[in-house]
Amino acid sequence: MSIACLEQDFLVFLKEINVYQSIIDIIEVHQITDAPLGSVDSYSSIASIISQKHLELETSKKMANFIEKLSIDEVYYQLSYVTQKSLEICIDTFNKNKLIDKDEYAKYVKLCSTSQQKWEEAKRENDFSLIAPYLEKIISYKKSIIEKFKHNYKNPYDVLLDEYEEGLSVEVIDLLFSKLKNEVVNLIKNIKKSGKIISADFLYSHVPAEKQHELAKKILCNMGFDFLRGRLNKSEHPMTGGIFDDVVVTTKYKENDMISGITGVIHEGGHGLYEQNISSLFKDTPLGILNGRCALHESQSLFWEYLTAPNIKFWSNYYSQIQKMYKPSLDKISLEQFHKAIYRLNINPIRLDSDPLSYILHIIIRYEIEKDLFNNKISVSDLPNVWRQKMKEYLGVDIQNDQEGILQDVHWFAGLFGYFPCYIVGYAYAAQFYSIVKKDLPDFDEILSKGNLQEIQQWLKSKIHHYGSSKAPLEILKTVTKEKPNSQYLIDYLYTQYNKIYSLSSN
Ligand code: ZN
Repeated sequence: MSIACLEQDFLVFLKEINVYQSIIDIIEVHQITDAPLGSVDSYSSIASIISQKHLELETSKKMANFIEKLSIDEVYYQLSYVTQKSLEICIDTFNKNKLIDKDEYAKYVKLCSTSQQKWEEAKRENDFSLIAPYLEKIISYKKSIIEKFKHNYKNPYDVLLDEYEEGLSVEVIDLLFSKLKNEVVNLIKNIKKSGKIISADFLYSHVPAEKQHELAKKILCNMGFDFLRGRLNKSEHPMTGGIFDDVVVTTKYKENDMISGITGVIHEGGHGLYEQNISSLFKDTPLGILNGRCALHESQSLFWEYLTAPNIKFWSNYYSQIQKMYKPSLDKISLEQFHKAIYRLNINPIRLDSDPLSYILHIIIRYEIEKDLFNNKISVSDLPNVWRQKMKEYLGVDIQNDQEGILQDVHWFAGLFGYFPCYIVGYAYAAQFYSIVKKDLPDFDEILSKGNLQEIQQWLKSKIHHYGSSKAPLEILKTVTKEKPNSQYLIDYLYTQYNKIYSLSSN
């Protein structure tokens, strides 16, 4: 068979694998946005069978044959760039998956599904002991995976981190988080010491969901979201999903909270733009699927939610329209009052109800706990108390019960260990990108005040998005910023931002 024919067959096979992935993604979106509650079991069993088929294809004899034939030097160098890069990803996936016992994995998937249901009960009953045995089993499975792969890593926990963000390690995170933690703790102390209270009651006035949706759609459109290849839907928890030409961004509008649904759309819109702006050359290949880059993905949502939107110029473009649409709630509220209220310090025991500053400590606490768990320094039974101690020490919060403590997030009870740190690593990357975009687009503030957000989207597309999965996250960061991960940009940004909101320097 000629090399051209072999390459063509391989691309057709990749397309077939991609179809299975797309079905899983379509089911996920359908379940989250439209499907009735009673359909949960039906859709879960379809998704589980399709996932199994997908895994079988990725690790099949057919794949092994393609890898063997296409990896020969004289063949490899005649392949197109897209095929070469796709092949590299397939080899990596194949090698990782072949070490995983399929039966054990199937049992683990079932365990996670039961554990998530148990978690709901434990949270409702406010009783950690109901879920602790399941968590033990999940952690023990994760440790067995670590045993298989740890020889490639410096720290056992790196095995889990690398799964969500290629190249991420305890070494990189410790470097990012150690200074960041101290600075955020200090900044929060300074804000509290200033004694300034920013009133925000008006944000909780009644605004019909339809009006919020109209505004959210307008902002998303200005950000450059392509409604011909995507949509904005509603769901219980905001998320981004879908397939290559149908990127679905969702949010939840609360009629007694005029802003959280909108900031949810700005966040998910950042994720959605990343998905939509992947080069069309990568469609139907693994390069068009953003796996192993959770932190970089998060950098794109936080770039908009925590760095761009908190600039008062962003809201200045919309404010008179918002006042009209939300009449009479904001009639007596100035743009400055509105802006300060949204971005005020709002310490809360619940991560998802926190502000962009104290949120950082919520994640650092989870990271420190995960690191200690997988380095055998703490055990499952220690978790509720370790959680309380750290919340008190870093945020000054007294946790009243496990419902608002260890049981608040589903992540660990669904097997997601190594995922949490991506939120703040992504925030640090976002601040690094932000420092460059402000140099490349010197009229950045004017762009915001005129609502020409697509200029920013074009910058992100050309520097980050269009690469899809063809470059490693750290390589993209290095190419754009000429630097390694560095939290100093985030620290500087936070000081500037909170000095503006609380006028700290004049104290
Ligand atoms: Zn996100």
